[in-house]
Parts: sequence; structure tokens; C-alpha cells
Amino acid sequence: MEFREERITITHTADEYDRYLNAVVPPVFLNSLHVYDRFEDYREAASNPCREGSYVYGRDGNPTVHMLERKIAELEHGARAVAFASGMGAAAAAIMATCQSGSHVICMRDVYQPVKRFLNNFCVPRFGMTVTYVSGNDLDEMETAIKKPGSSLVILESPATFVFRVVDLTEIAKLAHRYGVKTYVDNTCLTPLFQKPLDMGIDISMHTISKYIGGHSDLIGGVLVSKDEELMCSIITTVREWYASILGPMEAWLAIRGLRTLPVRIMEHQRTGMAVAEWLTRHPKVKRVHYTGLASHPQADLIRKQQKGHTSLMSVELDADPDAAVAFINRLRLFEKGCSWGGYESLALVPLYAAKEEEIAFLKAERGLIRLYCGLEGTENLVDDLESAFRGM
Ligand SMILES: *Cc1c(COP(=O)(O)O)cnc(C)c1O
Repeated sequence: MEFREERITITHTADEYDRYLNAVVPPVFLNSLHVYDRFEDYREAASNPCREGSYVYGRDGNPTVHMLERKIAELEHGARAVAFASGMGAAAAAIMATCQSGSHVICMRDVYQPVKRFLNNFCVPRFGMTVTYVSGNDLDEMETAIKKPGSSLVILESPATFVFRVVDLTEIAKLAHRYGVKTYVDNTCLTPLFQKPLDMGIDISMHTISKYIGGHSDLIGGVLVSKDEELMCSIITTVREWYASILGPMEAWLAIRGLRTLPVRIMEHQRTGMAVAEWLTRHPKVKRVHYTGLASHPQADLIRKQQKGHTSLMSVELDADPDAAVAFINRLRLFEKGCSWGGYESLALVPLYAAKEEEIAFLKAERGLIRLYCGLEGTENLVDDLESAFRGM
């Protein structure tokens, strides 16, 4: 049975029926503060903002948010999780909590683009930080970068969602720790079910709750998890309290509801993703398919070592120029044109359409690369949709 331990966490951890009048679904705590009979008790609670079960003000902590955090921490084998109002809020919080003015950051070239924009257009000009971009697949290149004075953080994403390149999390964590540098990985794509970066020595794992965890395209949120409880507590009492912003209670409740069905949704996504990717590799008009589940993936051995499965995100290169790729996705009826992914609805984009030449060169991909997200409409329906778009070529 897949996800034996995780299914118990998802269905039971932190639900605590007896605390909430035996309600099978815990309530949404839509309160901005918690009150006390005695000033001394209030002061006691306020002096321990990171203590579990200690609530004073909604910007520091909220019981519904904390239920979600407890489930995510357990799923990732972390000590503590901290939830934010967005995935970008979580990413920025991790950078702000581990870096200072003048810090040097080592970042993978194909991480989520807004993280690079935050580094390049904010951290560098405002805080005098420096960034070295690396492939993540060359440990010598990584070591040269890590050795720089002031190196504080390595930023990774595996797989990264253009050509689904993976990086060796265990080896990079070992190398970074040798130089006292912290490591961060965006684990959104695989969910806590298919990859546990903290068990591979990574310091901070991040998820956008807006994607597979929420699962219904109805919320924005993010979360950081670590085995380092002290680091997470410092994030709660500084970065999150002052500006990175806590997840809203209603969003936390929706995220818990989404999480309940994650194991069954993710298995369906994996089945559909595999079937669609394999069908595409056999299609005469397809040049290349990038999907971690294919035996032909150039990093298949590493993928087998660190991933427990594959989701339903992939990219495909057709024998077509960028405008023909756009015309192709415009002929798709079930795959809507939109960013994001992880919900029930299938999506298609041409993400490199306006990318810089150097980025295209690094990815060794066509400008007309199509990213496909397979939702829950069913494999046969999605294949039919793709087939009719191919017929129009
Ligand atoms: C969407 C996404 C983010 C950002 O999350 P938001 O909740 O939209 O801020 C970060 N990383 C990855 C891989 C994403 O897909």
C-alpha cells in the first residue's frame, strides 16, 4: 500500500476531536485574538509565541493554521512547519531568515522565476547581496560557488518545472554543510508524498499550498518545514510576524480539506501523467517529452534514488516553431491556457515564448516548449484532446 504512514497523518494528526466538541472536521478559527481572564496568563502566552498551543494574536499563530502545520511537518519528517499567505511569501521568508545584507546566495538557474526576480531585483540592489547561478548538476561548480565568503544559502528545486531536471539533494546537502551553508529546496512539484528532502539532509523544504496540496485551484498559500525547530521558531517570531504574513485561517481550512484526498489524487495524477507522457513519446509529431517517469529521462538513476513517484506535470517539444506551438495549445479544448497547476483542471502554456536567449541556451530547449499539466478529466479524454490538436497541425 502506498503512503501507509502519510495516510494516517493526513486523516488524523492534529484533528483532536475531543478538543472541538467531537466535530469530525475541526473548525475554522476566524478570530484575530485570544483572550485571557488574567493579565499574567496573557503575558505568559505572549512571551512564548512559538510554543505549541500558545495563542495570543492572529498574526503570530492560529489554531486552524497550526493544524495544517502539524500535518505538513509530520509528512515531511520535520520538527516544525510554518505556513504563509503564499508560496512566494514562504520562499522570501526562507531567504530573509538565512541571509543578511552582503550575503552570498547560490541558486539553481531554472528555479521558479519569481524567486530569481526577488533575488536579482530586490535582494541584490537593496541589501547588497550577491548571487551565483549554477546548474546544480556539477558538484565542482557548486563547490567553487559555495566557497565564496559570505555564502549563506543554496536554493534548489527538484524537479525544476521547465525541462524537469533534477539535482542530487543528498550530495548537495553534504557539500553545503561542509562549508556551513544552509540548503533550501522547493518541493512543490512532488508533494511531501513523493519526496522527503529533509531526510536527505536538506535544511528547509518549501511547498506552495496553492498547487497539489490545496488541489482545487481555490487558494493561495505556502509553507516551510525543517528539522531545525529553532530556525522555524525564529521565522515565526520575526519574518512571519513582521512582514511575510501568516496563512489565513480559511485558506488553512481549505488546505486541510485538500490534503485529505492528496494520496488518492496524486496516484490518479501519476497514472494519467505516465500514460499521457508515454503516448506523447510515440507520437510522430513529437520531438521530445520531459517527464520524470520516463525511462528515457537522462537522470533516471538519480530520479529512482530520490523520488518515490511522479506527478502529472511535463513538457513537450514538437516539430514546430513557437507560434505553431501557441496555435497547437490554442486548439486544445480541455487543457485551458493558464499558469499554476495542481488543481482538477488541465492546463497548457508555452512558458519560454518570451524567455531570454541565454535561458533557452541553458535549458537546451526549444522556445516553443509546451508545458502540460494533466488534471482529473481522465486519461482518454486528455489524449483525445491532444490528438485532435495534432490533427490540426
Ligand atoms: C506556484 C509556485 C510557487 C509560488 O507559489 P505562490 O503560492 O503562487 O506564491 C513557487 N514554486 C513553484 C514551483 C510554484 O509552482
